[in-house]
Amino acid sequence: MKLLFEKSVPGRRCTILPPCDVEAVELPEGLARAETPALPELCETDISRHYSQLCRQVHGVNCGFYPLGSCTMKYNPRIDEEMAALPGFTNIHPLAPKHTVQGCQAVLDTAKAYLCEITGMADMTFQPAAGAHGEFTGVLLIKQYHEARGDHRRTKIIVPDSAHGTNPATAAMCGYQVVNIPSAQDGCVDLDALKAVLGPDTAGLMLTNPNTVGIFDENILEITRLVHEAGGLCYYDGANLNAVMGVVRPGDMGFDCIHLNLHKTFATPHGGGGPGAGAVGCKDFLIPYLPKSVTQDGPGSKQVRSFTGNFLVVVWALAYLMTLGRGGIPEAARNAVLNANYLMEKIKGTFSPAFDRICMHEFVLDLSAFKKETGVSALDVAKSLIDYGMHPPTMYFPLIVHEALMLEPTETESRETLDWAAEVFRKLYDLAHTDPDWMHGAPHNTQIGRPDEVRAARNPVLRYTP
Ligand SMILES: *Cc1c(COP(=O)(O)O)cnc(C)c1O
Repeated sequence: MKLLFEKSVPGRRCTILPPCDVEAVELPEGLARAETPALPELCETDISRHYSQLCRQVHGVNCGFYPLGSCTMKYNPRIDEEMAALPGFTNIHPLAPKHTVQGCQAVLDTAKAYLCEITGMADMTFQPAAGAHGEFTGVLLIKQYHEARGDHRRTKIIVPDSAHGTNPATAAMCGYQVVNIPSAQDGCVDLDALKAVLGPDTAGLMLTNPNTVGIFDENILEITRLVHEAGGLCYYDGANLNAVMGVVRPGDMGFDCIHLNLHKTFATPHGGGGPGAGAVGCKDFLIPYLPKSVTQDGPGSKQVRSFTGNFLVVVWALAYLMTLGRGGIPEAARNAVLNANYLMEKIKGTFSPAFDRICMHEFVLDLSAFKKETGVSALDVAKSLIDYGMHPPTMYFPLIVHEALMLEPTETESRETLDWAAEVFRKLYDLAHTDPDWMHGAPHNTQIGRPDEVRAARNPVLRYTP
């Protein structure tokens, strides 16, 4: 598709402004541009069609099914967006006098109270801008806790091999040595492997529960007890809270410190790099180490981001919490789990789950046997789904499953959509046996099919050069 710059026709205009009726004034010497900027010249129809075409070429949750595992691409109710767009929330300045922004303060306080209640934490900061940023902040709390006690021997953070890549990256960024432990056969923490690495040098453990293969680790109380016994602290990666919110609390599982991805679990549109919020909660003994915000009284101590973070994302989350209410939050979690199990059962006859047992809000398919048999890879299946109007699942994650496809349907999909999705998977399964070449060449109906993903991520071309 051509860019607006390439569609430009010299002299073409949008005639929406009345003729200028004030005298033109020459700019003083030196202030004017030497050359006119190379702006596209187009009429309103061209522009409107250009953006409508662009809109048809992306896949969002408003276009169709989006089972991107671990990312919780649920439908985000419009009312939350309307709340976050209220002028009282958008037209404020972070240094506005306190008495003029009491409503905003009430939003932060109420959201904090609800989220502390849901997670079993004593306090929370909304400063971090994303999950990874929240992890970084949370692990720094753990570090400061040990240092404040003069316990300088604790140099290691334990991370299971199934963890999201941000977990070991965070531990390393905080100056810790990362100790990887292998998962047990069922994808959960191997207790013996954990015991073998615990010791006086353990600063803590980072864990998500349900874990990245969509299974709730039933040994969680024993796991957190063992870490505490060794003098370490337990960090909860809350990216998977959608499966358990309002049902069980990380605080009760024994975690000391957590982050939430408000943009995942609490319904802010995400993907494409939009604003997020990685709220960090902690038990009371860690409160002294939480970042403090800039206020009118001056800069806060230990800030990780300016002011109170992405405030509007918190408004969004609070609107979501208040619309669902005390009954709706656990119901959403239960429906997310129900939908995942329903879809897994329907797909099971063709593609095989990596762990054939009741899952939580997501499940992982293992396509290694299927690939051996047909030559069609998980990547080929993911790319073929695009031609059927479905966003691909997460691919090749977690690393402990080879040829992995990870599906998270979320609670906001109907039974009809799940039936359709299972049907598409069945069709592709058959197609792999009859026309594998079609799948090797997919997607066939998109602008680009198989970009060099590493280059696209490392050297994106984001600027038009005429
Ligand atoms: C998404 C995710 C993260 C990181 O969150 P971001 O907001 O993308 O930085 C961490 N852990 C898990 C399990 C996740 O799914």
